[in-house]
Parts: sequence; structure tokens; C-alpha cells
Amino acid sequence: MQFIMPNNLKRQYDLHASEYEAKALEVLRSGWYVLGNEVKEFEKEWANYVGTKYCVGLASGLDALWLSFRILGIGAGDEVIVCANAYIACVMGITINGATPIFVEPDQYDNIDVYQIEAEITSRTKAILAVHLFGQACDMTEIMRLANKYSLRVVEDCAQSHGNHWNNKTVGTFGDIGCFSFYPSKGCGAFGDAGAIVTNNDSIADKFRVYRNYGSRMRYQNEVVGANSRLDELQAGLLRIKLKYLDGFNAERCQIAARYSAEIKHPSIILPRIRPGADSTWHQYVIHVKNGNRDALSSYLQDNGIGTIIHYPIPPHLSKAYQYLGYVRGSFPIAEQYADEVLSLPIYNGMTIQEQDYIIAKINAWSKK
Ligand SMILES: *Cc1c(COP(=O)(O)O)cnc(C)c1O
Repeated sequence: MQFIMPNNLKRQYDLHASEYEAKALEVLRSGWYVLGNEVKEFEKEWANYVGTKYCVGLASGLDALWLSFRILGIGAGDEVIVCANAYIACVMGITINGATPIFVEPDQYDNIDVYQIEAEITSRTKAILAVHLFGQACDMTEIMRLANKYSLRVVEDCAQSHGNHWNNKTVGTFGDIGCFSFYPSKGCGAFGDAGAIVTNNDSIADKFRVYRNYGSRMRYQNEVVGANSRLDELQAGLLRIKLKYLDGFNAERCQIAARYSAEIKHPSIILPRIRPGADSTWHQYVIHVKNGNRDALSSYLQDNGIGTIIHYPIPPHLSKAYQYLGYVRGSFPIAEQYADEVLSLPIYNGMTIQEQDYIIAKINAWSKK
């Protein structure tokens, strides 16, 4: 068996290669490369897919996040609540604007423990950043209840959750703004960097259109200090094709995940749990390996031709970038424990049954610790 990579984008590409290639040529030959018809159509289609009035295409998921807080007027002196096991970009989206992240521990579903949020709310709290990690929704009922009670803004980070739901409603539709990354490995992945926001708020959508283009609505008239964060035509055109197949891609990963969950049996391994009310699009299949055996399992799998990754080995509060916040090991023990025990198994579109069988068999044969 060929080495199994943790993710294999070529397989997904090969499923519809001729369509991507035809679209790429069409855009190249059109002579129009930034903010044109492909972007306009993709924005309509993505808003329709998620179920919001507006989508605004941007250059990346990080831009979607930091521009959200910029546009909501959240900056120096303000606090934003975020889970302590988030991806670093979530935290950077907050701190780029000078605001302070207030970390809350994750629960057994690897997402923010909503029952620990209220204790962290102060007069400086302006927003909750709900990160739907690994393809699973946060408890949006409780987050929206708190937001309404304390008049907080809610930004959803849906980078890893393209098309999954909380109580049958698509993520990205609950808060003020839903942020998406279309980085190649994400559910609806571009062929380079890309991102977007969704919202039902006319004025927020309008601000994003201005901010993404140097703060300009009309050429050379700049209303605000914006950014260059435009989604380009090539990516938008290719994303329109990806979007047609997104539900199928998600369903395929669900099938692989269902097999893992049914067939992996090992006393040291805790399989991913799905919160009642949530569904998962299985952006990652993240197991927890107990008793300090995570690294042993990952080397064993590597030696057997199976690649894995860790999402994420260093929680943001312990990263060098955030030393200035003054946290130490022990500040968020659950997030730190997760960083030491999580392991993401290979899961990607176009994964063969033989590869799945092989991974399951190798894990189950791992000498029991
Ligand atoms: C990928 C990702 C981002 C950042 O997206 P980019 O497009 O890489 O800037 C933000 N948040 C989460 C949860 C992500 O997975």
C-alpha cells in the first residue's frame, strides 16, 4: 500500500479534474481577473447554500475574522471570548485589532464549553467568537442566549464547518457574521487562498465590500482605511464547481467517519463525540489518545505507512506569539491536555475502501497500552 497521507487533495481534484480545468481556462481567457462575474455568482451561490442574504468574497479566512471585528468596531480595550483550543488564526483575528482574547476551555466535543462562558463576561466583553472546530457546530442555542442576555456580538468561525448544522440550521447563520476560509484543505477548498463572510445584515455586508477594496466604493475615493482582501475570479470560478459537489464531499467523509467510529476499538483511544443537535462534516476525524500514548501511536502509524497530524500541538495561549498575554502552562489545563492527546486520522475525498480497512486494522492491532 502506498503511504497514506493525512489529507490527499489530488484525489479530490481527480474526481472532477476536467471541470476545474475548463473553468480555469475560461477565466484565464476572459481577461477579467478580480471582482467580476465569477465572484458575483459565487457570492450568490454561497449565500444561498448557507442560507443568508449576503456573502462577500475575501482573500482568506483570517481576513474574514479580523475584518469582522474591525467592522463591528471591536478593538483596543475590548474583550472577545474564544475557545482555548482554537486554531491560532481565530486568536489573531481578535488581536490584529488590538482586542484581547478571553479563553474558555473546550468540552468533551472539542468545542467551547458554553457553560463556562458566562463567568468570563465582563463590562469589556464585546463578542463571542464561536469556532465550529473539526466540522462540528458549537452549542449555538446557549451562545445566542448569552449574547442576547449581555448584548454581545457573535462571530462564527465556520472555516472547518462548510455546510454542517446546529438543530438543522446551517452554521454561519446564527451570529452577526459567519466567517469562511476556502484554504485548499477546507471542505469547499480553493486552489490557493480564499475566504468569505456571510451575513443577513445589509450594512455589515456593505462595509465588507468597501473594506475589502481599500475602503473604496468608487475608484480613488477611500472612505475608511481598508485592506486588499479581494477574492479573485479564478478562485471564485473554481469554488463554484467545488460547491456543486460539496454535499457529496461531506457525505463521503461522513461515511468514512462512520466506519472509523464503528470499527476502531482500542482501550487507549477515545473516538470523537458528536453533541446532540449537531452534525459533523468531518473536516477532521480527531481521536484522543489517553495515558500519554499519542506520540507512540502516531509514530507507529507513520512506520506503517499512515500519516497523521495534530490539531493543534500548541494551544494559542502557550504559543510564542501570545507570550505577551502572560499565560503559563496550567492556565488552561483542559486545552493543554487536548493538545497532548489529540490525533487526526486520514480522512479525505477519494479515499479507497482498502485504505480505510488498512487504517482501521493497523490501529486495532496497535499493542494495547
Ligand atoms: C483555516 C482556518 C482559519 C484561517 O483561514 P485562512 O484562509 O487560512 O486564513 C481560521 N479559522 C479556522 C478554524 C481555520 O481552520
